[in-house]
Amino acid sequence: MSAGEGLRVIYERIFMKPTLNWQIASVKDIKPETATVKSFTLTLPAWMRHRAGQHYDIRLTAEDGYQAQRSYSIASEPEREGEIDITVERINDGEVSTYLHDVLIPGDHIEVRGPIGGYFVWEATMDEPLLLIAGGSGVVPLMSMIRHRAAAGAKNPTSMLYSSRSFEDIIYNSDLEKLRAANHGMQIFHTLTRSQPPGWKGYARRIDADMLKEVAGPLGKSVQVFVCGPTLLVEAVANILVEIGIKPDQIRTERFGPTGTGG
Ligand SMILES: Cc1cc2nc3c(=O)[nH]c(=O)nc-3n(C[C@H](O)[C@H](O)[C@H](O)COP(=O)(O)OP(=O)(O)OC[C@H]3O[C@@H](n4cnc5c(N)ncnc54)[C@H](O)[C@@H]3O)c2cc1C
Repeated sequence: MSAGEGLRVIYERIFMKPTLNWQIASVKDIKPETATVKSFTLTLPAWMRHRAGQHYDIRLTAEDGYQAQRSYSIASEPEREGEIDITVERINDGEVSTYLHDVLIPGDHIEVRGPIGGYFVWEATMDEPLLLIAGGSGVVPLMSMIRHRAAAGAKNPTSMLYSSRSFEDIIYNSDLEKLRAANHGMQIFHTLTRSQPPGWKGYARRIDADMLKEVAGPLGKSVQVFVCGPTLLVEAVANILVEIGIKPDQIRTERFGPTGTGG
């Protein structure tokens, strides 16, 4: 390599972000989570360690060349090598989520690109108290954060407030409970907005200021907050968080869809 070429390689490594290429993932496993939600384990030939909170793009191409592309958050922890989990809610008239639910089977191949995103990410080295707030499938990137926290042995106080329509709609319910039981300093609060099973002890209304004060208060002033879910829920929660005194630069948000209410 000439001196000029060497300088160019060094320049590219330092200043140019690697371009993410599309790759063909294999579907290793499909697991139902609820009646309308499934998790897909994808094996990636060009696997790259992600940061908890990032997503992949999925691209479908029809025989006539028509393409549809959507984003799906990574549900698994970065410590798991060679593969990722994504978790997808089936939207009834949706183009891509119905294909993933109704057509895809283990052994199939699918075009993906990632990991993507640098803002809505949490690293176990961030040792401030953590508050994760999810509506519906917005729990997916937050699950990656909780799994990463467990895999890295992080001890920062962590609470999750998770809004679902009914008990049956809670995604990862037993996995969340196992992680809570096995990891110190972690609490999970559920709110069920439409129906509650007999004897339900959690919240039973949409997320409001009183609820957020109760959940966020014990985490103190330096809490870092991640909010993810349908657009309306995310905007409402972010506004209330500011009203109850959490600084905007402590709040990170991710919006999944234009229309859902999550409640
Ligand atoms: C960064 C990012 C990460 C995401 N991660 C996930 C994830 O982990 N799991 C997941 O299930 N989804 C996730 N989404 C949403 C996902 O990208 C798609 O928008 C969703 O699967 C719907 O796509 P579709 O092709 O099935 O529906 P479309 O054909 O795009 O839409 C069909 C109808 O559903 C409405 N719609 C679209 N998206 C939603 C939605 N999210 N909720 C309610 N109604 C909707 C549309 O307005 C339209 O009326 C993410 C979105 C973003 C931007």
